[in-house]
Amino acid sequence: MDMSPKKYSRKIVVVGGGPAGFFAALAAKTAKPSAKVVLLEQSEAPLQKVKVSGGGRCNVTHACFNPVLLAKNYPRGGKELIPLFEQFQPLDMVRWFSERKIFLKTEKDGRMFPNTDSSDTIMRCFLEEAKKCPVEIVLNTELVSVRKVQDRFVLDCKRTSFVADRLILATGSSRKGWEIVKSLGHTIEEPVPSLFSFQVPFFLEKNLAGISIDKVALCIRNTSLSASGPLLVTHWGVSGPVVLTLSSLAARYFGEHRYKAELIIDWVPSLSKERLHQGMERLKKYHPKKHLGTARIVPLSNSLWRCLCEKSSMSPDTPLGKMFSRDFLKLSDVLKNDRYSMTGKSHHKAEFVTCGGVRRSEITSSMESMKCPHLFFCGEMIDIDGITGGFNFQNAWTTGWIAGKSAVR
Ligand SMILES: Cc1cc2nc3c(=O)[nH]c(=O)nc-3n(C[C@H](O)[C@H](O)[C@H](O)COP(=O)(O)OP(=O)(O)OC[C@H]3O[C@@H](n4cnc5c(N)ncnc54)[C@H](O)[C@@H]3O)c2cc1C
Repeated sequence: MDMSPKKYSRKIVVVGGGPAGFFAALAAKTAKPSAKVVLLEQSEAPLQKVKVSGGGRCNVTHACFNPVLLAKNYPRGGKELIPLFEQFQPLDMVRWFSERKIFLKTEKDGRMFPNTDSSDTIMRCFLEEAKKCPVEIVLNTELVSVRKVQDRFVLDCKRTSFVADRLILATGSSRKGWEIVKSLGHTIEEPVPSLFSFQVPFFLEKNLAGISIDKVALCIRNTSLSASGPLLVTHWGVSGPVVLTLSSLAARYFGEHRYKAELIIDWVPSLSKERLHQGMERLKKYHPKKHLGTARIVPLSNSLWRCLCEKSSMSPDTPLGKMFSRDFLKLSDVLKNDRYSMTGKSHHKAEFVTCGGVRRSEITSSMESMKCPHLFFCGEMIDIDGITGGFNFQNAWTTGWIAGKSAVR
């Protein structure tokens, strides 16, 4: 191959047209306008995950502007992200967008979306920005292998080849991308899914789909893996922030146990067993004729409450006056330690990511490979992933920005 710069030279080549690759390419071109920046994407349309993200609304980032607190939302890579967030964090992203007349709004739980509520806004912004810079985008071009020849990279794609002085890999959770990285001397932490819902046959049998509870505590029996937050009962089992968070914290555990586990739900985490018991005795004293099924003992929906009464072997039609202390103890026990069998996982429509990827200890804080100089990484292909809420895109923005700037240095 002719390696003369005139014919083939692409000083910086970014592989992967997702958010990390786009942002890395833009950062490189902005930091050094004279650099030639080329972005290779295997498909015919880039930014496809951005398009479908957040149910089409694109949860771009999270309104947490303290690097240490922000890093707590990453079960893998939090520690390594702190110094990176000190260089580029959600506030920088909010500014970057507002300089381009894209304004973000913050929801009650801290998630940030474009105020148009449309991922098209974000996609268009990146495409226009790439045109302006300019970054050359080459679509339908899948990277197949990488060779280091002298000080440069030869990138073999299906129908063509490129030469790069600096290579930024941003191929997300693509197996092919990781194979290439392995061939360059890196270790790949076994990829397993994260951010999924749980299949729990009990809820399917009882027809409880649609019920939501503001706050429960959820844990995996005999482990310290637990989470708390809102829960949603679905047609297959359970979902909602608490389930997605636990799926992320326990991604490796679930992978090793083939997505089967015994779950324990605390339906009323704000009340101790004793307080619950006392409350039930008080209700009995003042409302002995009231039926268990209609007594407002805990703030749960009627159908769920009746199911839990039955799970405690008590008829919801029992008058409170006919109940004994041991019945209340049993009921409090179910409310605080309610066991369910999880039999599998389901995709969560709004967001899912991969846990695993390029080993973090083999990457410097400039996102450069420790195994292969002038090779950089960003985004989901690294063993970094966050819980749901805009944290995964923020990882793409932060690592992409640093990789792009470092590559032109
Ligand atoms: C349905 C869904 C909704 C989501 N919603 C949100 C959300 O609202 N907020 C949030 O923070 N996160 C969300 N996420 C997660 C977020 O989309 C990812 O974390 C993020 O896209 C990762 O960015 P990336 O650029 O690293 O990888 P990707 O977005 O996966 O991009 C990688 C790109 O590389 C290309 N590629 C791969 N291999 C090659 C190759 N060999 N040659 C050339 N190109 C290649 C791929 O085609 C792809 O375009 C969602 C994920 C999904 C699946």
